Amino acid sequence: MNLFDFTEIPADGERWVRFAQDFLQLFGFHIETPTYRDAENMFDFCAVEQVSGKFNSHPFRWLVSGRHKAATRIAVKESDETNILERLLRSRADGFIGFYSTTASPALGFYLTELKNRLLIKDYRILDAKFLEMYLATPGFARISFRYFPNYAQTHQVLHLVEDNYLPILCEHCRKDLLKTLFTENQAGVIVQLRRRKKTQTETEVIANIYAACKGDCDAELQARYCNEKKLNAVGWTNISDLVDSSAFLDRTLSLLRKIGTAELTYTASALAKELYLLKAIAQYTLRESTAKTAPSAQKIMF
Ligand SMILES: [Zn+2]
Repeated sequence: MNLFDFTEIPADGERWVRFAQDFLQLFGFHIETPTYRDAENMFDFCAVEQVSGKFNSHPFRWLVSGRHKAATRIAVKESDETNILERLLRSRADGFIGFYSTTASPALGFYLTELKNRLLIKDYRILDAKFLEMYLATPGFARISFRYFPNYAQTHQVLHLVEDNYLPILCEHCRKDLLKTLFTENQAGVIVQLRRRKKTQTETEVIANIYAACKGDCDAELQARYCNEKKLNAVGWTNISDLVDSSAFLDRTLSLLRKIGTAELTYTASALAKELYLLKAIAQYTLRESTAKTAPSAQKIMF
């Protein structure tokens, strides 16, 4: 069974094309209206990318043809894509993208390969259901998944990017991603602060390192690695599943701001960098967009 139900997008074609434009824009393309559209292909548009070489940089224009046949589950045939060459020439496009909610028929694939082999088009790509699903399920595409697939958004927890790339919280021992694990396991990971052993009671506490680990064996291995003969004590175990709660997240952030640099507590530069990374990584979960599943409790807090 597919992860996304493409029939959530109406079959009339217009919304499918808007989805295609939003998807490709997020993918890094600049969207343009083509100079030519015939009645049969009135939703064609162009997606432009900048191709950079050592001496030259130029735009590569793709003609994008959206075909939304998810309701019938039939592959897009050659007869569904009429006058490809003419459409490309009139749009001054270099390549062809088929943006399909099913897939391309072998005959259409063969025809496009022929056009490319005979140098009539520079390139072609088929972005089919499988390809689209692969990206829609990643954190960077969460906004689009929410907008176009409301049923998916209600049943799946989606992480929200705070930087260009997803920031995992990896167990420092086994490299398991403890942030994604939150969706499948309860209380699987902990964040542990390592404090320098104090010589006197009045000495300022120094957090010298922080690690994330799976509860149990991985945590024990890391404690053994860090706390033996290194003058460090493991302190402040926090379940990642507790920390992603919005008020706990805010508490940890505010407490860090309040204490840091005071006589009470300080961090080494590397430990502080780790703490800030963890806060950003956790924000991907905590500050994710509301789904119908989470919205009611959020409303309760607001009113
Ligand atoms: Zn582990």
